[in-house]
Order: sequence, then structure tokens, then C-alpha cells
Amino acid sequence: MIYICPKCKSSKLRHSLESYECMNCKSEYNIIAGIPDFRIFRDDIYSHSINEPEMVKNLLQNYVSKPFEQLLEICSGIKKYRDKNNYTAVNLIHKNTKNIISNLNKKSDLWYLSDRSGIKKNELSEDTILDLGCGFCNDTIPISKYCKNIVAIDISLSHLVIAKKLLQEQGINNITLICACSEGLPFSDNQFNFIFSSGVIEHVKYQNEYLSETFRVLKDDGSFFCSSPNRFFVGKEPHVDIPLVGFLPRKLMKMYVYVLSGGKLTYEGKRILSFGELAKLLRKYYKDNWECWTYLNVDISSPPRSILGRLYRKFVFFRKTVALFDKIFCKAHLIRATKRS
Ligand SMILES: [Zn+2]
Repeated sequence: MIYICPKCKSSKLRHSLESYECMNCKSEYNIIAGIPDFRIFRDDIYSHSINEPEMVKNLLQNYVSKPFEQLLEICSGIKKYRDKNNYTAVNLIHKNTKNIISNLNKKSDLWYLSDRSGIKKNELSEDTILDLGCGFCNDTIPISKYCKNIVAIDISLSHLVIAKKLLQEQGINNITLICACSEGLPFSDNQFNFIFSSGVIEHVKYQNEYLSETFRVLKDDGSFFCSSPNRFFVGKEPHVDIPLVGFLPRKLMKMYVYVLSGGKLTYEGKRILSFGELAKLLRKYYKDNWECWTYLNVDISSPPRSILGRLYRKFVFFRKTVALFDKIFCKAHLIRATKRS
């Protein structure tokens, strides 16, 4: 993989053992534990408030002697760094990392969706694949078994250091880890056949730039698979476990979460999208070349002999009515967008 400067997009990068330096804009990007750090800004939630440099140092000191789970424990047990701003981030880490190893063979939503989209897994070996917002690589690992190489990006360097340990323990060596902002990817145009990005768009700082970057680095006819919780889901907001957050005006969401959690949770850095908001964003870059699935229409038609499955496939009116309500109020949206020039 050839990198470009994520700031000025120049391909003139000087590579040394410790860094990449842009010959054009003079930006320097360090390489830490073999992971290039191409970030153009730090994420407040995942980097600043948990004092990332100190955390990375701590992880690297324990890297050789401690197994993956214990490194994870260091990262999620960072109570001394905890303040109001990172409480949700720390919570998230806890919630999402339980049983990571036992779930490694579980198909992710997007992987399942790619099946339904007719992607032939045995044809992936020649393709270039990007996992955008990989976290601990728990969704990257199942994909890596089908392809020659896969690039995995995250904005959190500490997550990537822990991911590296997991890959090592699992004997996986075809995943390239890169620390970068999804809003400024260190790749030239038209590089990837597939991009997977699960539960990321609601966390990125600049959703427009995130989508335009996916479009830019995809090859023609390449596909972007993305999933995100629905703003108007009539249940609990998954990041904070509080019901109906999305139904409030955005300005009131933070206060609502703060009050309902008794001052324990904040709602910083999250912008969950309704179907309409998501559609508007996607159209900007992918025009009409995208489809949206939900859990309901994936599940309802997939056991072929169930009553609902039969009704669903047989009656157009039934299908359309269900689909409309479903897209508005479902739990999460699963998207496949294709780049057509
Ligand atoms: Zn540059």
C-alpha cells in the first residue's frame, strides 16, 4: 500500500523507520509500534480525554508480557483518567469488548449484508479491502480469512496497539493497521474494491468528509458497506442505553442524556442519523447508487418458509408498507453504496 499525505494529498512522502514526512507540506507522521499515525486531528472522546500518549506508553510497556485480555483491561480500566467526558467512551469499551475472542467467528452485520448483496467470498482474494473504524479488529478478523490483504484504520492508537496484540495471538498477518482520521485518509484515489465501516458514521466528527473520503478512495464500481443505529428507533439508544434520545431536537439530546443518567453520562461526539438524514448524506456522494437494509427486512425474508417470509415476498403492498415503517423506526440501517463515475 502506498501512502499519501492526508493533509495536502501529496504522494511525496519520505519514509524512515520512525516516521513518514511529507516533502510538500512538511507534516510529519510518526510510526508507533509499527503503526503509522496519519491523523490530521485527535478525536476528543477516544484520544484527548483519556490521555492517549500516556495510555499508549502504558500499553507498550505491558505489550510483551501481558495477553490481549489484560491489555484490554488496562485500556478499559482507566478509571484514573476518567472524567465526565470520557465516561461514555469507557462504557462503550466495556460493553463492546466483552467476549471479543469468543465472538471472533461471528459474522458481523456488514459481512452478512455482503453475503446478501451477492459478493462472492472466494473472489475476494484479489481485491483490496478497507475496514474503516476497525476498533479492536473484531470485525476485521473474520473478513481477513477470505482475502490476501486488508487495511484496517482507526482513530484510536491505543485500540490499534491492543488490536495488534490480538492479531499476533490469533496468528493473523494479513491485516495492516493504520491510525488515521476517516475524514482524511492517507490513500490516493481509487484504491479499494470494498470498504466496510460498522457503527462509525455516528461517531465521526465530520460526516460529509467521512463519506466523501470513502467515495474518493473506492475504485469505480467498488462498494461501501456501512451500518449505523437509527435515530428514530423506538427503543434504547445503544450507546447510552436510554430510550428515545433520537426523538429530541439535537440541542436537547445532551441535556436529556445527562439528566436521565443522573449526571453519569454525556452524549458528546455522537450524531445518530435518521433514514432521511442518512439518505441525504449518501445522495450527495453516491447519488442514487445505494441501497438500505434493516434487520427486519434481512431477517423477515431470510427464513424462506416462515409465514412472515412468505407474506413478505408474495405481496408487494405488504412489503412496501412494512419497508417504509421499518426504515423510519428500525433499530439500525445497513447500507451498500456503490461508486459509479
Ligand atoms: Zn503534506
